[in-house]
Amino acid sequence: MPDHAPPPSAPSAVTLDERALARALSGCHLIGGALVPARSGKTFAVVNPATGAEVARAAEGDAADVEAAVADAAEAQKAWARTPARKRGALVAECATLLTEHIEELGRLIALETGKALRTESRVEAGTVADIFAFFGGLGGELKGETVPFAPDVLSVTVREPLGVVGAIIPWNVPMLLMALKVAPALVAGNTVVVKSAEEAPLAVLRICELVNRVLPPGCFNMLSGYGPECGAPLIEHPKVRKVTFTGSVEVGRIVARAAADKLIPVTLELGGKSPMIVFADSDFEKTVAGAITSMRFTRQGQSCTAASRIYVERPLHDRFVDALAARVDAMRMGDPLDEATDIGTIISRGQFDKVQSYIAEGLGTPGATGRACSRLPDDPGLRKGLFLQPHIFTGLQNDSRLVQEEIFGPVTCVFPFDDADAALAAANDSDYGLAASVWTNDLKRAMRFAHALEAGLVQVNQNLVVQANLSYGGVKSSGLGKEASLEAMQEHFTHKKTIMVNYQ
Ligand code: ADP
Repeated sequence: MPDHAPPPSAPSAVTLDERALARALSGCHLIGGALVPARSGKTFAVVNPATGAEVARAAEGDAADVEAAVADAAEAQKAWARTPARKRGALVAECATLLTEHIEELGRLIALETGKALRTESRVEAGTVADIFAFFGGLGGELKGETVPFAPDVLSVTVREPLGVVGAIIPWNVPMLLMALKVAPALVAGNTVVVKSAEEAPLAVLRICELVNRVLPPGCFNMLSGYGPECGAPLIEHPKVRKVTFTGSVEVGRIVARAAADKLIPVTLELGGKSPMIVFADSDFEKTVAGAITSMRFTRQGQSCTAASRIYVERPLHDRFVDALAARVDAMRMGDPLDEATDIGTIISRGQFDKVQSYIAEGLGTPGATGRACSRLPDDPGLRKGLFLQPHIFTGLQNDSRLVQEEIFGPVTCVFPFDDADAALAAANDSDYGLAASVWTNDLKRAMRFAHALEAGLVQVNQNLVVQANLSYGGVKSSGLGKEASLEAMQEHFTHKKTIMVNYQ
């Protein structure tokens, strides 16, 4: 028997009581348009990392739930693929309108389950989700093919066809946004989707799925919660899943890629990063320091694959730059994620907290290295059990240190002085990762030389902004395979090109 009886439905109105909403969504997958418990009846705890309190239970999915969700998605896909593309887009755009009405609600809910500050992160993420649905909703009519010159009296054309059921696996750091980047283009392209949410953050994505299901036909968008090996693995291995899209660690990315290879299906992987930022002495100091603060993503506790976690600064500027960075981070306020005054919230989970702390301890114990702990832990007794961790800025580490080579996914940045531009470039490229990079200089020739030479999927000059729906995004090297966001990504990763030839001689 289920240890939790699910409610018949989630509240239809905007619900700003995030705890009540979390309870209302408790214990459910969303399959075939309905909130349902796991077939096994099992659930697991969803914990608020700012207090350690359980805020909800999540359905613990397994192969039986995957079977049900994929069966419904496969059935729904037949009619969805026949729905005119612009009509599919219009429905996805309608979802955007509904999601816009729920931005505050979704922001509060994601802050509750992830510990990300509402003002600096969670509300922003919720707004971006609505924007992604709006962007892709407008692209239905752009799923065009080509005419191909072949022979007189033979009309040869290509058409874009959907792939079928898409299996999507998402992580916990920006789960709503990363899910939207997969689900919105997949749907507009005529696929149906089964998402497996991250164990740590199943609620806000479930709410989005439930909202979207008020607009789309049942079965188009399904949501499962559960653990990776028990629920994620059967999803990617399911024979009716014809495309897999994954964001997460390199290690699991390899497992996903192997499963896709066995089935010979296309796969998109967005994996880790260790993004460098290169600062020349001629850059605009204030703008660059502000850019570094944004780039380090300490407002998200560094839990970002594009976070600037390695900063190479031309020597004359180095010390002043490090001091300015530390002073700015010191001025950031750490506290209750739901408090509007809070800049920095918590680490997602105890396991992640311990992992980041072990890197910090290793850095502090490295001869010649200095780690500055910045900002202040909150003194509110209600947050005593919260996973708050002081951001650290390290200097004096060698490029081959584990802190410099491995993705920490926490509020840790390593800063290095450099004298020679080519040496800085070589150090920046001396990484298994290649997701994003930025270069800061007022010398245009140098900026362009670096923009071309940096091994990354995205290079920005004198800015380091977050991803936008219309910009193709994805890494090289161990950072992944394929692109997300943008019209091209929708076409290339969620459709296949069929050639049709008509001989009318
Ligand atoms: P992180 O370290 O950020 O948690 P992971 O790569 O471990 O990243 O997890 C990302 C997503 O992959 C999560 O939804 C997780 O449940 C899922 N996952 C983990 N292991 C597997 C697996 N063997 N097969 C499929 N999905 C998995």
